[in-house]
Amino acid sequence: MRDTLPLLETIDFPALRRGRLDTLQINVGYRCNQACFHCHVNAGPNRTEEMAGDVADIVLAFLARRRVAKLDITGGAPELNAHFGRLVVEARRLGVTVMDRCNLTILEQPGQEGLAEFLAAHRVEIVASMPCYLQDNVERQRGKGVFGGSIRALKKLNALGYGRDPKLALNLVYNPQGPALPPAQAELEADYKRVLGERYGIVFNKLFVLANMPIQRFGSMLVSKGEFDGYLQLLQDAHLDANLDGVMCRSLISVDWQGYVYDCDFNQMLGLPLTRGGRARLRLADLLDEDIAGNPVRVAGHCYGCTAGQGSSCGGALKEAAE
Ligand code: SF4
Ligand code: SF4
Repeated sequence: MRDTLPLLETIDFPALRRGRLDTLQINVGYRCNQACFHCHVNAGPNRTEEMAGDVADIVLAFLARRRVAKLDITGGAPELNAHFGRLVVEARRLGVTVMDRCNLTILEQPGQEGLAEFLAAHRVEIVASMPCYLQDNVERQRGKGVFGGSIRALKKLNALGYGRDPKLALNLVYNPQGPALPPAQAELEADYKRVLGERYGIVFNKLFVLANMPIQRFGSMLVSKGEFDGYLQLLQDAHLDANLDGVMCRSLISVDWQGYVYDCDFNQMLGLPLTRGGRARLRLADLLDEDIAGNPVRVAGHCYGCTAGQGSSCGGALKEAAE
């Protein structure tokens, strides 16, 4: 796979500083039951990296000590981590909102019986990838059989109250198939709701529209096809300064499976750790007693993926998130 970091580091991006921390995003490992084409984590069934119990303990201590409002759990398929259940239960006990970045098909995997009920019982917000409401498009990106499994999972979640009960949020995530900007979020959400509702009786709360980041598998594919420069130019041409305030690195830190800290998940995947006061790399344990508001963010060319057009963050388009 081609590393795009050397290319991205040659591209200037406006300086950013952190604001108040409200979300701790943890990547609990790269193992996944799927191996999607665009996956920016390069996750798959054969990956073995996994957050251990002592790092999960630090996560819980950090939530309690720093009074962080939200725990955003990602992977891989985060539910495959042995400490997933404990993280959910303990974080909820602290009053923290918990978000599970769920690939839907995990709900049908052997050993995951009862997972949907567990998530509902603890009022875990589900953020689920669903790159299209059409089978062909989903399976081209995410693999054969994924569409049917996703539809069955959504029906199961609806039956438990997800997408209907205000305490059980079910949000879907769209990203484009290729090197193009995503379409307007509100219109696409309306299309999703209409098609998934009419054909399958499925309901959900919001559609988050995200841009593809020029890193990992997707970035490497752009380089191999000679499309990297064109895509970066597209992102830069669509950059809006107004989006800089809402980028997720201002209010979130990302923690890897070993407990190292990054300004966001994308920087984590690029191997660009959060730096502070001359320290080139920190663990979450180092920040238990530190307020990092005002700390500079490590930016490079990929950051235009967050500020192009309607903007893109873990909660979808920035313009609409601000409304
Ligand atoms: S389901 Fe998510 S984590 Fe798993 S391979 Fe696909 S994009 Fe990556
Ligand atoms: S890629 Fe990460 S560091 Fe760059 S603007 Fe987006 S969230 Fe911030």
